Amino acid sequence: MDGYTFQLPAKASSLDQINAVIKILEQEVPSTHKKGIQLLGLWPNDWVKNIATISQNIRRLPLDYALSLHAPISPMSQNDFVDLRTDTALQTMSSVCTFAEEHNIGDITIHTNSTDNHQRHCGQDQIRSEKLRIINNLSKLSKEYSSINLSLENLPAPLMGDNITDPNQMPHDFFMTTDLSILDFARDFAGIPNLGFCIDIYHYQKAKSQVDYLIQHFGANPDSSVLKQFGCSGIGVPLSPMRDLNDLALEIKSLDSKIFDCQLTGYDKSVWFPHNGLLREGSEINDTFAGKEILSLIKNVRNLFGEVNFSLDMPCTDYITRKEQITSMRYILEKL
Ligand SMILES: [Zn+2]
Repeated sequence: MDGYTFQLPAKASSLDQINAVIKILEQEVPSTHKKGIQLLGLWPNDWVKNIATISQNIRRLPLDYALSLHAPISPMSQNDFVDLRTDTALQTMSSVCTFAEEHNIGDITIHTNSTDNHQRHCGQDQIRSEKLRIINNLSKLSKEYSSINLSLENLPAPLMGDNITDPNQMPHDFFMTTDLSILDFARDFAGIPNLGFCIDIYHYQKAKSQVDYLIQHFGANPDSSVLKQFGCSGIGVPLSPMRDLNDLALEIKSLDSKIFDCQLTGYDKSVWFPHNGLLREGSEINDTFAGKEILSLIKNVRNLFGEVNFSLDMPCTDYITRKEQITSMRYILEKL
């Protein structure tokens, strides 16, 4: 198939949202491209409580849709059930993979969910051993569920900047924020056919802007209090400028790893400042510098990795009409 695969995100428990995105996809995406849905499930209120509804909703979807499951997610709280460093999370993820197999879902996006509070500072040795536990869990899952692509998603810095303005309340994750951390995982994923990445453009650009700002104002080795103040405690020092996304994709390819999913959002290069209001996780994609960068990334990622799910993941003011996502989809389809 020559076309691209375009997905819209929908809350898996909401039939209204699912029906709305099917209608939009059928209207907007020509038959030369493939359509799909990125199904979202938050832990535990949605994914656990509404699992029967979620199952029913998924069974009604068109059979030729590319489905990704983006669940379970719990960035707000430290929770062993989803924290990929734990054995409990391995059990949770096994049940999610079994569910995916039973529902014809080909891709699962995984968050490390290994959030810590701001008080903890740990050395490189400890970070390495914690990462090893994540890798062990992921490789067990990839072997047991070989028909499913598992994508580890990169995270923003600061984490939860769309919900929290006080750095003291802000969780952070030691993993998957910078290009170096992503590539560190890519080395461990090398050669495993169904283990790869979900690249969230907004998350990446937000982390990149923060790192650039910190280096410019505090140097490559800022004090831990500076990192904490800017919600970047999980980022290791020394800091180095993050490569652009096209270079990251090339590097992932050259390490024999893969990108399975790409979450598309517009972005600006603003920096997060403490107590300065909430961030919006991305914006419409249109004919700006960011829009052109995103188009070139879509083409490159598609050329490098073959079939990739591209989801229009920008926030909307109304999740039924989805004006922002429709505008962005039209821009991309017209320019591709
Ligand atoms: Zn995500």
